[in-house]
Amino acid sequence: MQGFDSGVLAWGEHEELGVLAELFDQPEEQEWQERALCAQTDPEAFFPEKGGSTREAKRICQGCEVRAECLEYALGHDERFGIWGGLSERERRKLKKRAV
Ligand code: SF4
Repeated sequence: MQGFDSGVLAWGEHEELGVLAELFDQPEEQEWQERALCAQTDPEAFFPEKGGSTREAKRICQGCEVRAECLEYALGHDERFGIWGGLSERERRKLKKRAV
């Protein structure tokens, strides 16, 4: 019989499932992400190719009610790629430097 049977998972796989469960069990982070305006738009705009335009993503961020939470998350998790909280990777780096 085919199907999910936890009995067939190796020990390491059980550990990975535990880590995933922890990641998804953080109500505060889930809460703001559910209100993320970018979730209703084209995600590619937020991860442009090198040298690509960030204007559209930043415009969307301007109207996002969880912009502050998003930026805080990106800074706290050292997110390297994409537009977060209306700032590009370079702008976030500058902001971090200024804060030090
Ligand atoms: S601030 Fe921008 S990147 Fe962050 S959740 Fe809102 S729309 Fe998405």
